Amino acid sequence: MSLREFLFGKKEQEVDVPAEPAHENAWLSSNFTFRWVTRLKNWGITDKEYSKERHHKKTDDEAIFSLYKKLLVQHKNDMLVQQALYYELAMIDAELGRDPKPNLVLAQKNLLAHYHHSKNIRSVVIESNKDACASCKKLDGWVLTFSEVTKQHPLPNLKCMKKHGKKSFCRCIYGPMARIE
Ligand SMILES: [Zn+2]
Repeated sequence: MSLREFLFGKKEQEVDVPAEPAHENAWLSSNFTFRWVTRLKNWGITDKEYSKERHHKKTDDEAIFSLYKKLLVQHKNDMLVQQALYYELAMIDAELGRDPKPNLVLAQKNLLAHYHHSKNIRSVVIESNKDACASCKKLDGWVLTFSEVTKQHPLPNLKCMKKHGKKSFCRCIYGPMARIE
């Protein structure tokens, strides 16, 4: 019997992290530990590493959180990976009923830093999801220079009415605006 079967039974279906709100119910309907351990495996964490971490922690939540912290250290020089990891930590927060904002802020910060390091990008544009709430839709298409973003930091939108789990969860992102030669 594999560890997965032992921990979660055979019936769980693997689901991807939802980029589209339409997939969110499928995501949230699977077992919390199952979906995040599956996700950790996608990031390269093995069953053995998970078992070891779980042995040292009181709960699955703590083991998952601690392995995410390890991944952040491991990928500290890749800002896009940092963005993705912080975004997933924000989802975990929201699913556990905690405020996702601090990790969403860190996700946005890493994405902006990534853009700032690429020579061709001179500003960013806010892109809201097609199922976004009215407040986020108002931000859609807003072009900002890097200094404007630093002063106003409009994302995550604190007025967002769309939820993930129990918490408001703004899914807007900064898109890159290429320099026109
Ligand atoms: Zn919103």
